[in-house]
Order: sequence, then structure tokens, then C-alpha cells
Amino acid sequence: MSGKVYLIGAGPGDPELLTLKAHRLLIDADVVLYDRLVGEEIIELIPDTAEKMYVGKAKSLHSLPQNEINSLLARKAKEGKKVVRLKGGDPFIFGRGGEEIEELVEEGVSFEVVPGVTAAAGCAAYAGIPLTHRDYAQSVRFLTGHLKDGTTELPWEELVHPAQTLVIYMGLTGVVEISASLQRFGMSKAMPVAIVEKGTTKQQRVFTSDINHIAQVAAENEVKSPALLIIGEVVLLQNTLSWFN
Ligand code: SAH
Repeated sequence: MSGKVYLIGAGPGDPELLTLKAHRLLIDADVVLYDRLVGEEIIELIPDTAEKMYVGKAKSLHSLPQNEINSLLARKAKEGKKVVRLKGGDPFIFGRGGEEIEELVEEGVSFEVVPGVTAAAGCAAYAGIPLTHRDYAQSVRFLTGHLKDGTTELPWEELVHPAQTLVIYMGLTGVVEISASLQRFGMSKAMPVAIVEKGTTKQQRVFTSDINHIAQVAAENEVKSPALLIIGEVVLLQNTLSWFN
């Protein structure tokens, strides 16, 4: 009997943001492989009978390289197990979910993908920042501030565009460069920016500033990862719409 891999988005932190499907599969799992971004309270939902494996992030000593995670998933499923691969947010948004299931396809292992609340949606909601709003933004772009080769080279020109909200994942390390580049390509120095640290969790912190000062604000407040940058006029609404904490 062959098993199956469930690639599941755990959402940004608040355990109540797990979908019913994610929860059902998680409490029935034989093996759970999880990341550093999956919240503690979600890990606690894993039954004692399941084998729990922390596979962490690529750079950490206590974690597995991506190709080993991919083959471990396939191996455990071939042992006939129900394998849950739990990822922060949504598995298909900056989550390498695609890479993990490519290998399963190659090895003929069956799988399902369960979407999760991505950090952009979770952080925006819990910070009180609608990502679109008829008066301020008709489009929203999700970007990563950290490319595979370690640089932050984004299509700056396209990003300086009226009525558009930018959400930058993994943007904390590159915040100085992101802020300088956007201004160099014409973004107003006064463009509102929010930084949301540990969004949707009890430790959530939200700082608002403008594109010219955001790096300084992040440094002064010792903002740590995971943190999300939201850039655009919608950030002005945070003053009146903030509700969490
Ligand atoms: N697949 C995930 C993203 C993984 S990339 C998703 O869909 O949300 C990791 C980045 O996501 C972090 O560097 C940070 O920018 C963002 N992130 C994830 N969880 C977050 C949280 N709770 N608060 C703020 N940012 C978060």
C-alpha cells in the first residue's frame, strides 16, 4: 500500500487560521515535516503518535538541504505513510512547494496541495491594512526581497507605479537597498510603508513610516524576521483600521 504526501499551508502563525482541511489532515498524519515558520501552537496540534521532523531553513545547521527534504518526502510516502509537509503561509507563495512536489511527480508518489493564508493576507488583515482599496490601490504585487543568488535585484521601474500596493516577503535584510532603489526610480520619499513583524501572532508588532525612513525605523526597533514590508498609500488606513493587539 502506498502512502501520500500532503503539502499543507499552515498560515502565518495564528493557529485558528489553519483551514479545516489542514487541521483534519494534520491530526491524522503518520509523519510531519515542518519548517521554522510554522507557529509553535500549530506544532502542538501534531498527535504524539506522529513522527515529527523539523527540517528548518536551508542555512541552519540543524536542517536538511532542499534536495534531501524532497527525497525524504518521497521515501516516507513509499513506506505507506500519510506524510504531511507543513509550510508557513501558503506552500505555493515563496514556499518552494513547487520544487518539493516536482520530485514526487518524478517518483510517482501521489500528493495533494492544501492552500494556506499567505503572510501578505494574514499580516494585512491583522495590521488593519487593506491591500486594495478603491480610493488607493487597484493592484497588489507580491515580491521577494531575497533572490536565489542572494541579491535583491527587482524590476524597480515597474514597482514605482500609481495605485499599486507592494508586499515584499523576505525584505528585511535588503530594506536599505529596497528603499534606496525605489526612491532612485522615482518613488515619492513620503510613500507610506508598514513593516509587520510576526504577523497574526501574539508577538505581532507593526511599524509605519515612509519609504525614506523605513530602514531606520526597522533598525531602531530591532525588527526581526519574519517580517513583511507593505508599501503603498493603503498603509495610511492602518491608523483608523487597526484592531488587533
Ligand atoms: N510561504 C510563505 C512565505 C515564505 S517566505 C507564505 O505564503 O506566507 C518567508 C517570508 O514570509 C518571511 O521572510 C516574511 O517576509 C514572510 N512571513 C511569513 N510569515 C510571516 C509572519 N507571521 N509575519 C510577517 N512576515 C511573515
